[in-house]
Amino acid sequence: MANQDYTGSCQCGAVAFTVQADLDRTVTCNCSRCRRLGSVLTFVPRDALRFTADGPTTEYRFNRQAIAHHFCPTCGIQTHAFGEMPDSGPMAAVNVNCLDGVDARALPSQAVDGASH
Ligand SMILES: [Zn+2]
Repeated sequence: MANQDYTGSCQCGAVAFTVQADLDRTVTCNCSRCRRLGSVLTFVPRDALRFTADGPTTEYRFNRQAIAHHFCPTCGIQTHAFGEMPDSGPMAAVNVNCLDGVDARALPSQAVDGASH
């Protein structure tokens, strides 16, 4: 599968977006946050994520503070996070569970051991 365009949103719709992503390369993670959220993530260049409804988000950082997690303050759903890739620069980690018409848990995922980092 190559990059395709998807639409997605938080639960209440205050935050909505389009994203170009390759869902053959999703990631699950066992860090203290992803474990609780049940996150299935796709990592894309930050400019591949475009907001069509940019309601306010609450930013949350933990551990090394390197990743800015963004969630909707109304419905509580985390739609995305922003960070920097060492080799490719600004990135967005998009919550695949928020994408329209996508069964995130049915996708092949690479398990990342975020708990150890
Ligand atoms: Zn919301």
